[in-house]
Amino acid sequence: MNEQVSATSPTVETTAVRDFIREIIAEDVRQGKNGGRVVTRFPPEPNGYLHIGHAKSICLNFGVAQEFGGVCHMRFDDTNPEKEDKEYVEAILQDVRWLGYDWGDRLFFASDYFEQLYGFAVELIRRGKAYVCHLSTEEIRQYRGTLTEPGRESPYRNRSIEENLRLFADMRAGKFREGECVLRAKIDMASPNLNLRDPVLYRIKYVPHHRTGTQWCIYPMYDFAHALSDMIEGITHSLCTLEFEDHRPLYDWILDTLETPHHPRQIEFARLNLSYTVLSKRKLIELVEGGYVRGWDDPRLPTLAGLRRRGVPPEAIRDFCRRIGVAKRDSLVDIALLEHCIREDLNRRAPRFMGVLRPLKVVIENYPADLVEEMEAINNPEDPSAGTRKVPFSRELWIEADDFRENPPKKFFRLAPGREVRLRYGYLITCRDVVKNRDGEIVELRCTYDPATRGGETPDGRKVKATLHWVSAAHAIPAEVRLYDRLFTVENPAAEKEGVDYKNFLNPRSLEVVANAWVEPNLGKLRPGDRFQLERLGYFCVDPDSEICGKLVLNRTVTLKDTWARLEQRGLVD
Ligand code: ATP
Ligand code: MG
Repeated sequence: MNEQVSATSPTVETTAVRDFIREIIAEDVRQGKNGGRVVTRFPPEPNGYLHIGHAKSICLNFGVAQEFGGVCHMRFDDTNPEKEDKEYVEAILQDVRWLGYDWGDRLFFASDYFEQLYGFAVELIRRGKAYVCHLSTEEIRQYRGTLTEPGRESPYRNRSIEENLRLFADMRAGKFREGECVLRAKIDMASPNLNLRDPVLYRIKYVPHHRTGTQWCIYPMYDFAHALSDMIEGITHSLCTLEFEDHRPLYDWILDTLETPHHPRQIEFARLNLSYTVLSKRKLIELVEGGYVRGWDDPRLPTLAGLRRRGVPPEAIRDFCRRIGVAKRDSLVDIALLEHCIREDLNRRAPRFMGVLRPLKVVIENYPADLVEEMEAINNPEDPSAGTRKVPFSRELWIEADDFRENPPKKFFRLAPGREVRLRYGYLITCRDVVKNRDGEIVELRCTYDPATRGGETPDGRKVKATLHWVSAAHAIPAEVRLYDRLFTVENPAAEKEGVDYKNFLNPRSLEVVANAWVEPNLGKLRPGDRFQLERLGYFCVDPDSEICGKLVLNRTVTLKDTWARLEQRGLVD
């Protein structure tokens, strides 16, 4: 799945949309805060692959930096060695680049600050603002209290600074067992904000880290590491999702208490939720590791790797992120909007070809057996500069089985006995006879063509109601085509029904493999990752499996049916 990854900046899609975050930043710049500089960061934890929710954050952070002439740091918040891995680091970097963003030489790891972070923890102890606590995890939870009851102070809370310094050094030196003690901030056990009830800052873990190896057996907690990493890097605006709103007082407390020379401003926005899928790393990991899908880049997943493999262009994802905008309230975005953005982008750029998914043989009885004509076909009606190509036409063709009915219902205008239709870029043909096998299944149509209609023209102006796609049987190349449907059968699988696991709503028909499709020979030139339209069938791309299978394998990215555009026309969306 190695589509060429380019490190160039995206063409900046100029956005007229001014969201509340851009307003705040514009005001800060106007007031000359931070010397007018804007520095943002995208801070994933390398414990899974990125998904389209992360794309929202990436587009926001890198986009804001670009718009305000600032920079965006790429930073890994790698403070939890148990779940993190180098594989994820590589995959994340590839995905961000593929989306079109460039961090230049500003690639950072929170783990590079471990020594500095340790120093800040020591400084907190010196200021009487942190202590080593020997309560167990369970006891800490019990002491914490609830939203309605204040917590109780730990019996270890009032140790002397000297004792705390010695114990914290012992923690680092590996003199305690895992879970035996932690370092906690000394804030306020009665605070209405649970995050301020002496939160844990460091815990002991005898787990090697993917970058620092066995150098450390104590690891900082996210809140502590994050605020200080932002500070160390001179981040001016730390943009994060709403679940961190209640953590902001702690973020600010850490920087205020340490009287750091710089204090980034944390601003929260609503995370992206998308219908008919899940955007939680934990659930995505479960789907991948449980074998519910074929891997992180399964085209049914909302991961960037999956979307890429499915044929979704990065431009469409950026356009989608621009359209959904940034707000303060959580919402569920209709996946039809994403599909609409994909169609809009591909409609402009994707070359057209013909292919037949469920082939039905057509024999044109009055067409010479040894004749092959090269018909001229338009590559992209939306883009005249894309030119034309030649498609071979001959006596035996494949058409789509769906395009024929022996007993056509009222509104069926395609091929039927005695009826004439147009073959796109070919001729007008008329069905004369239906050939069946012993089981009564239709195996072949005997047709005639009108030589005066070359290219599908009707010199006498006669009308036909349908135009069908086709391929020449002798020239077509075989393909396996993978058709995708939504991964889940319900809009919001995570919240469909209380107590019912989201996996119960997996769509058993999310993948349909069409093993014996035929496509026009021009498709043989395409490479894995190339995107195109199969006329009337949808947008597709060449799957990297083509190189393994020795057979063309295609993924359908989206069908041509745009449910969002129809809603838009009817004024049902804004
Ligand atoms: P975890 O539970 O592992 O923390 P996460 O989805 O928050 O999962 P991170 O690696 O911490 O993953 O995310 C990196 C950044 O992407 C964070 O700033 C986070 O707020 C943002 N982000 C994650 N999910 C979404 C989403 N659905 N919409 C918008 N931003 C998101
Ligand atoms: Mg997170």
